Amino acid sequence: MPPEFRTEDAPPYGTVEQVSPLVRRVVARNPSKFTYHGTGTFIVGPASGGQVAIVDAGPADDDHVAAVLRAVDGQQVTHLLVTHTHPDHSPATAAVAKATGATTFGFGPHPPEAIAAHDERVRRALEKGEEPESEDGEGAGDRDFVPDVVVADGDVLDGDGFAFEALHTPGHISNHLCFALREEATTFTGDHVMGWSTTVVPAPDGDLNHYLANLRRLLDRPEATYRPTHGPAITDPVPYVRALIEHREMRDHQIAAALAEGPRDIPSIVDELYVGLHEDLHKAAGASVYAHLVAMQRAGRAVAEPKDDADDWKADWRLS
Ligand SMILES: [Zn+2]
Repeated sequence: MPPEFRTEDAPPYGTVEQVSPLVRRVVARNPSKFTYHGTGTFIVGPASGGQVAIVDAGPADDDHVAAVLRAVDGQQVTHLLVTHTHPDHSPATAAVAKATGATTFGFGPHPPEAIAAHDERVRRALEKGEEPESEDGEGAGDRDFVPDVVVADGDVLDGDGFAFEALHTPGHISNHLCFALREEATTFTGDHVMGWSTTVVPAPDGDLNHYLANLRRLLDRPEATYRPTHGPAITDPVPYVRALIEHREMRDHQIAAALAEGPRDIPSIVDELYVGLHEDLHKAAGASVYAHLVAMQRAGRAVAEPKDDADDWKADWRLS
């Protein structure tokens, strides 16, 4: 079983909520199966006057940008931090930077491997006369974002009255950063750890081995509160992260056991592991199994034997 998830009521869109002494949140009206009630843009610093940082300006949505700018009216935005380049996180950065003059910070542009995989999926879908995936889902990306300042793991970003330690946390996407706010022992976890749902790890740029390593790494850290981009805060992070790890390890064992009986393709593994799953969710389950298989392949534990059209999704997989 996955861990017990945390829920919250839909927040009031377009207004700012004070969630802790140093942190305010504005939620964008972009609810979806990837974003829960929407993207939470965090403003860090005193609530009036002085300097502030913004974590994940959010999607390209004029109303959201206006709400964020209203929230920081009369203050100086010194840092625009970007956890990663999915379309619900970084696109508003440019507009907010333009309006405030703030410096943008991120690990780097949208990863080439993610772009290539997305374009290939769109090409295949069009070839088959199917609807290609949407440009605002987790498979797509913000191809325009380029950080002013490239942030590496362990960098400390100092503001007036606040300091963040950056943690490079690839897994969900290779350019993912978390930001640990020292003053409140709080980590802004982006999509790396979310309370309302597990994290999708879209291979090949998404990497389950990296994801798990970066979950384990959190267990040794002192932060007691996580503020994900989507959904409520997590205030007991260690047992929660442990449950996330155990859930993936259980899946890994199940898939390895299935392959031990002979070569298998993804649909047959989904049928065996996700008994009773609604047909609409088979594709998502298949993507999760695929992420596990790619991780096993990268660790030298499994190999793909492509069938006729060299599509990994249709390959038979076996233990190596
Ligand atoms: Zn994301």
